[in-house]
Amino acid sequence: MLCLNIFRQCKKISPYLSSLQLQLINHVARKSSTYKRSQLSVPHTDHLLSVKKDLFEQRTELSDSEWQELRNNLISKYKHISYSNVDAIILGLCGGTDQLSLAKSYVHYLRECGLEPNLASFGRLLRIYNSTYHKRGGNDTSLTPEEKQDILDIYAKLRERYEILDASTCENLIYGLVCTKEWQTGVDLLNMSKLTSTPSIGAYTELTVKAFAKGELNIGWNLLEETVAQGKEPKCEAYSAYLQYVAQEPLTLQCNLEKLFAFWEKYELIITANVAKCITEILNNNLHNAELSQIDAQGKCNQCKVHMRTVTITDAEYAKLSNSFLNKVLIRNDVFQKSTPEEVEHFKRFVTKTAPYDCVIDGLNVAYSMGTKKPAKFLASLLANVVKHFKNQGKHVLVLGRKHMNNWPKDSMFYIRKNASLFLTSNLSQDDPFLLYATLKSGQSTDFFSRDMMRSHAFLLGNELRNIFRHWQQVHQYSLITQTDNGRIIVKEPTRYLLCTHKVQDTWHVPYKQSYSPNPAELFEVPESWLCIKFK
Ligand SMILES: [Zn+2]
Repeated sequence: MLCLNIFRQCKKISPYLSSLQLQLINHVARKSSTYKRSQLSVPHTDHLLSVKKDLFEQRTELSDSEWQELRNNLISKYKHISYSNVDAIILGLCGGTDQLSLAKSYVHYLRECGLEPNLASFGRLLRIYNSTYHKRGGNDTSLTPEEKQDILDIYAKLRERYEILDASTCENLIYGLVCTKEWQTGVDLLNMSKLTSTPSIGAYTELTVKAFAKGELNIGWNLLEETVAQGKEPKCEAYSAYLQYVAQEPLTLQCNLEKLFAFWEKYELIITANVAKCITEILNNNLHNAELSQIDAQGKCNQCKVHMRTVTITDAEYAKLSNSFLNKVLIRNDVFQKSTPEEVEHFKRFVTKTAPYDCVIDGLNVAYSMGTKKPAKFLASLLANVVKHFKNQGKHVLVLGRKHMNNWPKDSMFYIRKNASLFLTSNLSQDDPFLLYATLKSGQSTDFFSRDMMRSHAFLLGNELRNIFRHWQQVHQYSLITQTDNGRIIVKEPTRYLLCTHKVQDTWHVPYKQSYSPNPAELFEVPESWLCIKFK
C-alpha cells in the first residue's frame, strides 16, 4: 500500500511549486522521458517528484509487490506512461538518484515476472552502471564481477537480437562496456554509431579515458584525433587520464608530454585550469620546471622573459591559401549561392578596378556591432567613423554593404562614398564571401574589419590550410570595441604572437582557461593564464 499512500499524499501538494521543485521536476522529467519527453513535464509531475523523494531517495530496494504497485500506478495515473515506456521511466528515476541497487532490484522484479526490459530500459540501466563505476573510482574493481557480467550479458543479448544497433543504443553500450574488460568493443560500437549519427563527446571521452588508463596509447591517440576531426573539443578527463598514465614512467615523461603539447599546438586547443594543475604537479614531482605565468601585451612571458613566437605566414603559404580560397572554396562550394552570377561577376570586375585595398570593411557587421536596434542615423554615422579611422591613417578602404543602405542618411553615406570604395550587394547576399574574396585578392598586407569568425569558411579549407587561414585571420582581423560619446572609435587590433601552446627555444608555453567549453572562444582573445615549462 506504500505507493497508494504516496499518491494520496500527492494530492495535498500545492500547485504553486518553488523554483527548486520545478528544477527537480524538470530533472526527473529529463532523466526519465525516453519517448514522451515533452508530455511528462505537466501535469502530474508532482506525483513523480514525490515518488522520487519518498521512494527513490529513501530506499535501496523494493519488494516485488511494491514494484508492481508502482508500475501499475504510473501507468494508470499518467496518460503518457504506458507498458512500453514505464520501465525506462522507473529506471530513469533510479538513475536520477544514483541508485544502482534500486535499479538492480527493479530489473530483478521484471525478470521474476518474465518481463524483458526493452532497449530504452537497458540504456538507462547501463548509464546507471557507468555513473556508479565512476563514483566508485573508475577502476577494474569499481563494479563487482556480477555487475560487470550483467553488462556483458546485456551486450550479448542485444547483439544477438539486432544485427545493427541504433546510435543511442551504441552509446549506452559504450558507457556500459567501459566499466568492463571488454571496453575495446566500445570502439567498434563507436564506428557503428557513425552510420546514423555523430558520436557524442561523452562517448569519445569515456573510451579515450579508458584507453589511456589501460596504457593503450595508440587507441587513445586515435580517439583524440578523431574527436578533434569531428569538430569537438576533447574533455579534461581524457587529458588527465593520459597524464596519469605517462607520469608513471619518468624516463619517457618528457617525450610523452611534448607529444601532448604538440597536439595542442597543432589544433590550437586551450586546456583547462584542472589539466594545467595536473601537469604542474607531475612536472614538479619529476624536478622539471613548471610555473604559472602571464604574457604581456608585447608577448613577453612574465616568468622566463622570453617572447612568444610571432605569427608568420610565408609567401608560399599565403599563395596557397589565397589560391585555394579563390579557386576552390569560393567556387566549388558554392558559397556565393545567395547571390546571382551577375552580381558576383560585377563584384569581381569592381575589385579588379579598385583593388588593392589596405582594409576591407564588412559594413553591416560594423554598423550593427553596437546593437542591431539602433536608428539608421546611428548605424550610418558609426560606419562613417570607422571609415574615418582608416582614412586618417591614409588607408585605402573598401566598404561592403547592402543595397538597403542607400536609404541611410545622406551625409554619412556621402562621406563613406567619398572616402572609400563602396560596393553594395543585393539585400539577400552573404557578406563574408565578398569580404574574403576582396581581402585575399588584394594581397598579403591587406586587413579586414569584422567580428565574424569565418568558421564555416575555415572549415571548408580542410585540415592543412585551416591553420594557415586561422593565423592569417588572427593577424589581419580588426574589430570594433566601442565608440565613445564624442564619436571616437576604439578598435581591437590583431594580436601578433601565437595564442596557442608552442615552444620557443627550450621553453614551452601553454595557455589555459578556467573551465571547459565545448566550443572554442569567439575572438582571438589573449588567454589570461599560461604555464611556462622548462624540462631539466
Ligand atoms: Zn615563460
